[in-house]
Amino acid sequence: MSYDESNIFARIIRGEIPCDKVYEDDHVLAFRDINPQTPTHVLVVPKGAYVSFADFSQKARPEEIAAFVRAAGKIASEAGLDEPGYRILANHGPDAHQEVPHFHLHLFGGKDLGRMIKPADK
Ligand code: AMP
Repeated sequence: MSYDESNIFARIIRGEIPCDKVYEDDHVLAFRDINPQTPTHVLVVPKGAYVSFADFSQKARPEEIAAFVRAAGKIASEAGLDEPGYRILANHGPDAHQEVPHFHLHLFGGKDLGRMIKPADK
């Protein structure tokens, strides 16, 4: 899939649409999800034009990957989630119901998140 420059996260990164920003550096922007699923629900987004995890993992430069991973950990720590715990998740493609075609991590926390997949759903 080619990158769609008009996707909502691209527009947020370009400053065309506002966001509830929690972190920014040269390579990363993080903001609160507009429809939070947990008390803390932050989206960690690389600024580069990557459609999904597959695209990011194959094409991102080492410094972009390092910045992204470090930022995600720092955001979780600064949200006070290291002790109680948190979950990070990335949806790639149709089976995962990825809605926005710009790679992002979801950071969930602030409550007991339950098991990742219910045994009955396997
Ligand atoms: P995904 O299904 O992994 O692509 O998730 C996309 C996420 O983006 C959803 O959780 C949406 O609630 C969230 N979202 C969509 N538009 C915005 C926006 N303008 N600001 C913040 N979050 C958004």
